[in-house]
Amino acid sequence: MDMLWGMLPEELKALMQSWGEPAFRGKQLFRDLQKGLDFEQMTVLSKPLRERLKAEMPAAPATVLEERASREDGTVKLLYELADRNCVEGVLMRYHYGVTLCVSTQVGCAMGCLFCASTLDGCVRSLTAAEMVGQVLCANRLLAATGERVSRLVLMGSGEPMNNYENVLRFIRVVTHPEGLNLSARRISLSTCGLPDGIRRLAKEGLELTLSLSLHAPDDETRKRIMPVARRYSIAETLDACRAYYEATGRRFILEYALIDGVNASAEDAQKLSRLLKGYNCHVNLIALNTVKERNLYGASERQIARFIDILTANGISATRRRTMGDDIDGACGQLRKRFLEENGQ
Ligand code: SAH
Repeated sequence: MDMLWGMLPEELKALMQSWGEPAFRGKQLFRDLQKGLDFEQMTVLSKPLRERLKAEMPAAPATVLEERASREDGTVKLLYELADRNCVEGVLMRYHYGVTLCVSTQVGCAMGCLFCASTLDGCVRSLTAAEMVGQVLCANRLLAATGERVSRLVLMGSGEPMNNYENVLRFIRVVTHPEGLNLSARRISLSTCGLPDGIRRLAKEGLELTLSLSLHAPDDETRKRIMPVARRYSIAETLDACRAYYEATGRRFILEYALIDGVNASAEDAQKLSRLLKGYNCHVNLIALNTVKERNLYGASERQIARFIDILTANGISATRRRTMGDDIDGACGQLRKRFLEENGQ
């Protein structure tokens, strides 16, 4: 059984009934949990029930250990602590259309992408659905002061969502539930380094999630240099699965492409990428790589990025540049946790 925050109303109803409580307690408890209330604040419940919850259940699935606000763009980087003292990170980004939270799905990651700080020490463990919900509740608590709340999620923190499939799906069912946070599935992006079986499975869930594929290369050779997953699955196989996702859901998919100087950012690469993507219903999200000096991987220049986007556009490929945010606060994947672990001698 997951912690309370990862349970759906029907499951909480069964739990409450097993505690000798009336069935309607399930829904009441679900609503209050998803509002982020502490047990004491759940005054809709009876006092003895509140006491029992407090005595038998953990107080919260995640708490904020560190918070850094960017002075430049309102981005907030969060470091959360979990019940077993592990920590994961998240980023809160403010756009004109609302607040987006970047959620972690695992402590660390097993995929080994060369440019990603989350994967340096491998995968420690997968998060439960409750621990993912906990990240959203922490962010909402923080936002309450300014009357904002999280309206979009990107599963782009640490971890590979397809390697924690069941818990990620449970998390999505919980946060999209109308009695709870009621987020729209269309406003949730699931980002994967590209595991075709997982993508095909997701296509059958009947959810309107936005699927993001971290492509980062125009051909298999280049991709193998920076992403070990490319040795297991070819780009063609992976894009095939994305096409199946589009056919099942009607949702065009997103390709993430981080431009790395000297690796994947030349005019030739842009031409190759254009040819590769012809005929797919997709959109390319370009970003300059957050430089990883340890690996000698550097973000492409402004000029290279502008040229790359021009070539894609001229070839009829839909592409935009994603703004880099939170550069001044270790905004990129795994950077804050890494620094925290180093400073605390772990
Ligand atoms: N495992 C999933 C989701 C987490 S990573 C995936 O691979 O998609 C979220 C995104 O950040 C991915 O697109 C990933 O490739 C990208 N990323 C990781 N390190 C980066 C860096 N240094 N600069 C730019 N993007 C990076």
